[in-house]
Formats: sequence, structure tokens, C-alpha cells
Amino acid sequence: MARPCQARILCSGLRHNVGVVRQRAPSARIMACVKADGYGHGAITVATAINDLVDGFAVACIEEALELRDHGIGGPVLLLEGPQSADEIGLAAEHQLTLCLSSPHQLQWLTDADLQTPVSCWLKIDTGMHRLGFAPEVVADTFERLQALRCVTGTPVLCSHFARADSPEDPANNTQEACFDRTVAGLDAAHSLANSAAILTRPDSHRAWVRPGYMLYGGSPFTHRDSVSLGLRPAMELSTAVIGIRDVAEGQAVGYGGRWVAPRASRIATLAVGYGDGYPRHAPDGTPVLIEGSAASLAGRVSMDMITVDVTDIPAVQVGSRAVLWGSEPDVDTIAQLSGTIGYELLAGMPSRTPRIKESP
Ligand SMILES: *Cc1c(COP(=O)(O)O)cnc(C)c1O
Repeated sequence: MARPCQARILCSGLRHNVGVVRQRAPSARIMACVKADGYGHGAITVATAINDLVDGFAVACIEEALELRDHGIGGPVLLLEGPQSADEIGLAAEHQLTLCLSSPHQLQWLTDADLQTPVSCWLKIDTGMHRLGFAPEVVADTFERLQALRCVTGTPVLCSHFARADSPEDPANNTQEACFDRTVAGLDAAHSLANSAAILTRPDSHRAWVRPGYMLYGGSPFTHRDSVSLGLRPAMELSTAVIGIRDVAEGQAVGYGGRWVAPRASRIATLAVGYGDGYPRHAPDGTPVLIEGSAASLAGRVSMDMITVDVTDIPAVQVGSRAVLWGSEPDVDTIAQLSGTIGYELLAGMPSRTPRIKESP
């Protein structure tokens, strides 16, 4: 027997969503973001499911990059935050990882490195997010220095990142892109700017490489548009089973703190899923849960291992009935929005207790 809570990983959804990226950015190469264990889906599961459809993978750190290499992912792997110590440069070269350099100290490590094989680089420009990246004033000089290094192979890709691409009308996006274009004018290199939100709304920003993350997993990066309207399909279905049913009288309270009080005689189903399985503790009463094809509603606080759901109007529900917490219906963005967060956080925060069950197409 196994705990009934599981996350099915839908490879057909992942592959479909790569197709949406291709459709939106037909002439760009795709650097698929699989950091944070493939946004909680399992980096290896995701990378093997779409390896033949994309041009490379982006990760946050060297551990994530080496995990891909250990599992036979052979193409470009980009370290988005670059090396975090001088030693990582040797490792990156040995495993043919691409370093995204964003700070003078990283350039110094590279300058001092004594490498057997040269390493590929991207050069990140701070166009206004003020998180990582070289200041525009030093980019031309830094680009030349990088190209002159014997330990660097190829021409560095020039890249930047939007701070507000999820608000497409925000003029800050144009300001950042204009800053990028001014900064790279006269430098002969490929460009990369677009995350999911920019892929979906800013064709000008597609350039040579796009860097989709969240949209690959079927989520919408926008609060004002759902994933279905963007043509995306979910890549995860989080489900569990009903493990108990009880009748409560009108006025009885359910769960920690007695937050939910039965407005009428009610039937309550207890489900084996809680915040220890990745379901958000801040989900409010009324949050939808799909059981036996109908939307039931959360009744009472989310516990670590269980939730309670009002199934008064769904008589077919019994012990053992399967329930969907997120997937096609409801989608993870809905659950996140109700819980005061974003789907990115729910997916990336999925704990290891919840088994990921890979479903091949
Ligand atoms: C995570 C990340 C992305 C992908 O962003 P999404 O919004 O998930 O598409 C792109 N570029 C950089 C630098 C990132 O860190």
C-alpha cells in the first residue's frame, strides 16, 4: 500500500507546451528552464520528456546541472547564476556547462582559471531589474575581455531578464528592452531576453534564445489570463483519495481553530493531502477540490497531512474516491491565487514525500 497522494507528471502536456513555445517564437532556440527540480515536476523526468524538442536546459546551480549530465543530458546546460566559486569553473568546463556571468568577481575567477578545456559563456546585463548582471556601462569592455580569454570558447550570448513581463502593459518592459538594445549595439552576438511572459506577449524580445519556464509546465504567468486561453496544458495532476467521511450537524466546527462552521447539516470528506504534501496551508474555505467529477469545497484549515472538504451535494463520494487538488480542473494558478501566492511557488515547493508518477504520452 502507498499513501494515496501523488503527483502525476504528464509528459504529453510538457511536449504540447514546448510546441506552444515554438509556435510563439518560431525562429528562436529554446533554453528550457528546469531549475528547482523542474519546477517541482522532477528535472530528469522533464528533461528526458522534452530533450528531443528543445535546444538546451537552464538551471540555477551546478548541482542541478550535474544531475542532468549524470542522467545523460548531453546538450547545452546553462548555469543561470553562473559559478558560485572558482572551483565551479573547472567543473563547468569538465562537464561542458555554459556559464552565465553576471558579476566582476565571476569574470575574475574565469580570468584566473587554468582550464584544460574552454568553457562557453553568456553575459548577463542589468537592464533595470537590479538583481544580477553587469551594469550597461561596462558591458562592451567586459564582452571584449571575455572574448579575449583563452579559456572561453565561442561568442558569449548577451542576455537580460524582465522584472515585469507578467504586466505586459507596464512601460518598464520597453525601458528594459531599449536599455538592452542600446547596450548591445555594435556587439556581434546572439541575444536572449524572454521568459514565459515575454514569449507570450513580446515578440520583439524573442531574439536568438528564449528561456521558457513556467509555461512549459502549463501555468499562466499572468494573473489576468488563464492557461487554457494561452493554449497550455497542465504537466502535473496532484490527486489523493478520500480516507474518511462523516456527517456534522449545523453549527459544528471542522478542523484546527474551528475555522469552518457547518451552515447546515453537512457531509465532510477527509482527504489524505496537506501542506506536508505541497497543498498550500493558506487555502481558504471554498477552495475547489474535484471529487467524483464535481467541485467540492474546502471546509476548514489545511492540516499537515489532511484536508476536510464539504461534499454534502456530491452523494457519490465515498471512502476511496479519488480527488484532484490541481491539474486541468481546478488549475494550479486558481489554487495559488486563492491562497495568496503564485503557481510557481506551489510547484517549486512540492515536497519529496509526494511521489511523482511519470505518465509517458
Ligand atoms: C527562471 C528563469 C526564467 C524562466 O522564467 P518563467 O517565468 O518561469 O518562464 C527565465 N530566465 C531566467 C534568468 C530565470 O531565472
